[in-house]
Amino acid sequence: MTDALRDLIAKRKKETDTVILAHTYQPPEIIELADITGDSFALAKAAAKLPNKRIIMCGVRFMAESVKILAPEKQVILPAPDAGCGMARMIKPEEITAWKEQHPDAVVCAYINTTAATKAVCDVCVTSSSALRIVGKLDAEEILFLPDRNLGGWIAAQCPDKKMTLWNGYCPVHDTLTEEQVLQAKNDHPGALLAVHPECREEVVRHADMAGSTAEIIDFAIKADKPVIIGTERGVADTLTKKYPDKEFYYLCPETLTCPDMKYISPELLLQAINGEAGETIEMDEELRLKAKKSIDRMLELG
Ligand code: SF4
Repeated sequence: MTDALRDLIAKRKKETDTVILAHTYQPPEIIELADITGDSFALAKAAAKLPNKRIIMCGVRFMAESVKILAPEKQVILPAPDAGCGMARMIKPEEITAWKEQHPDAVVCAYINTTAATKAVCDVCVTSSSALRIVGKLDAEEILFLPDRNLGGWIAAQCPDKKMTLWNGYCPVHDTLTEEQVLQAKNDHPGALLAVHPECREEVVRHADMAGSTAEIIDFAIKADKPVIIGTERGVADTLTKKYPDKEFYYLCPETLTCPDMKYISPELLLQAINGEAGETIEMDEELRLKAKKSIDRMLELG
């Protein structure tokens, strides 16, 4: 990225009262241009408190929707309208309704990585960092957990007193990582610690020194007194390597752990979005927004 482009983005951002949010999995040059970076829920919460009237959400569609749910009065723009989430696409609201009919006494618990339409037909949301706490507090005969079978299995293993039934969805990025690849990485970097996201399969998570959300992985990696192998989307290792040059981080299969939908946005596209020449403004029916917000509010109450 040239200095001229960086300066122009800063100038246009100011002139248009725009703030740029970027998910941790975004390319390093987008992270550099962002005003706030973090995971999807942290960004949505931060957005709601911002004074700016325009928000550009560098991430995938469900993340821009989450911002709109919590900050309805703001203009929320997704620079790359095609950027979706493979996991969020694995369940549809009508499938949840049919599932609920088969389990009428169950509480429906949705991972935050879901569309607004999915959240609207669920009882409570969880993030990967709040999932254990919230599921532990749910007073229900049965919990229907969706859409991630890996995160659901990880929670179920740690909440043995809960009856959890899992939807068969997964993150097409994290789920591809194999035990063999993990063992190879550990062999290549003896003495290094391994941090992974619970969206990975159990055969991977079982070899980790810690499993947690992207924010928890970053925190663990910064504080560790040994090198750390980063077992989540490569954007996390990209950022850590750049921000902490004195610490040792290793990528775990960066070709496998690359979410293509997270890499659509370039500085040029971002400038076009700021100028209103690219991107999509998120519109949301108020009834849908309020229903989706209910499951997020329940998460905040319990979390
Ligand atoms: S990494 Fe997985 S869960 Fe995250 S946006 Fe990409 S497909 Fe969705």
